[in-house]
Amino acid sequence: MEDELIKQTWDSVLAILKETIVATTYETWILPLVPHSFEDNCFCALTGQNLAVQILQKNQKEISKALSNVCGKDVYFKVVYDEQLHKQIEKNKQKQKKEEDKEFIKNLENRITSSRYDGLKQMQSDCRLNLKYKFDNFVVGANNKFAYSVALAVANDPGRQYNPLFIYGGSGLGKTHLLQAIGHDILFKKPKLKVKYIKAEEFINDLVNSLAKGLDKASDKNKKMNEFRNKYRSADVLLIDDIQLIEGKERTEEEMFNTFEALHNTGKQIVFTSDRSPDKFENTPDRLKTRFQMGLLADIQVPDIETRMAILTKLSSDNNVKMPSDVIEFLASVYNKNVRELEGAFNTVSAYTSINELPITVDIVKKIIKYSEKRKTVTIDGIIDIVAGYYNVSVDDIKSPNRASKTANARQTAIYLARELTDESFPYIGECFNRKHTTIIHSYEKVQSDIKINRNLANEINELKEKINS
Ligand code: ADP
Ligand code: MG
Repeated sequence: MEDELIKQTWDSVLAILKETIVATTYETWILPLVPHSFEDNCFCALTGQNLAVQILQKNQKEISKALSNVCGKDVYFKVVYDEQLHKQIEKNKQKQKKEEDKEFIKNLENRITSSRYDGLKQMQSDCRLNLKYKFDNFVVGANNKFAYSVALAVANDPGRQYNPLFIYGGSGLGKTHLLQAIGHDILFKKPKLKVKYIKAEEFINDLVNSLAKGLDKASDKNKKMNEFRNKYRSADVLLIDDIQLIEGKERTEEEMFNTFEALHNTGKQIVFTSDRSPDKFENTPDRLKTRFQMGLLADIQVPDIETRMAILTKLSSDNNVKMPSDVIEFLASVYNKNVRELEGAFNTVSAYTSINELPITVDIVKKIIKYSEKRKTVTIDGIIDIVAGYYNVSVDDIKSPNRASKTANARQTAIYLARELTDESFPYIGECFNRKHTTIIHSYEKVQSDIKINRNLANEINELKEKINS
């Protein structure tokens, strides 16, 4: 088939897959594929990412189906790793990165003379203006997609919509990264705006100091407090990290409320990050809580395994570390709660193997991270295996459309346990069971309510949990 026709076919397939495949998988693994040949009903695409071959196995059927639909006949999809393509991608990436860094630094230098440089200097002086904390370096997955898009929207048009933006989520999930990315982006695109990044802790200390310094004389006290207030109220964009730290500190909360009012009333953008949502601020006055909630709340969840693998893949290519796919999969399955820890493990492994001139293999990595085999990781396939054995049905039946009640019940239990015992998202669990994520949610919720009234089922589930965890 002619190249042009192959490309057109692939474009039509992409349009279908974009709607049907999980966004992270689509963007990270499918979009970069290069359509190569179409012969004897076999459509072949090339990839420069070693991991793609393995990862796309799961989507092989779906892609073949889309191809068959587009071509009007049965077509088989194949993906092949291409070393040449890999080298080319790496080369382009490095070139692009260098150019971006150059441009960024040039922009910084241009601003040294401008008064707006202050904002940047301030961010930098806290050693937390991390050049890495930019939107480009943020891997987007189902867990953070919403927070990422609204952060981007705020950066594009600060003070207009979503004011304040309140980003919340567990530790090490990328809140500070997104917050600083907003700062970077605004400083980069709108250098005239004054951006101020602070940790809530600094706000507290600063207030305490201003109050203490002015203790002697009333006039001094006013002066110090005015300085304090002006410092925060002169910002066009105020980025406050870890706002939960002010909870229960009455004086700080009052000053925060006043600062908020002063900025918000004049259309200045405020962004908060927090480890919990505003309604979990138990000791904070309602008037401040309602201010936190009056714009937009965006949460960040724990990333699913694909996103964790994508983060490691990005780290390897950014740092020029050749980490084999089985090691990436292994690390991503062990560090499943916190991106900071995942990144820490990556750094430890790459530093250790490079200093000791060791190859990066799963066995060596296990030793480096002191991984104990006893700390068994629970996988969805493992769960399906055990549940199938327990109810005496086959694994294939569980994954098939079979609706016989024995199979359907076993399947629902397995779905429930998959959600309870792993950190995987509903869409990912759906892929493992060959079902839509809405079906998975429905099954999960059904079992969740059934066990409250069905003692037998509750016992079975407890027994299964023990089997799976032992
Ligand atoms: P938090 O503020 O939520 O505790 P951080 O923003 O400090 O977390 O993130 C911890 C580390 O993980 C940082 O080095 C950050 O760059 C990295 N990180 C978190 N999420 C992502 C992501 N989606 N893509 C790339 N790096 C991430
Ligand atoms: Mg943080």
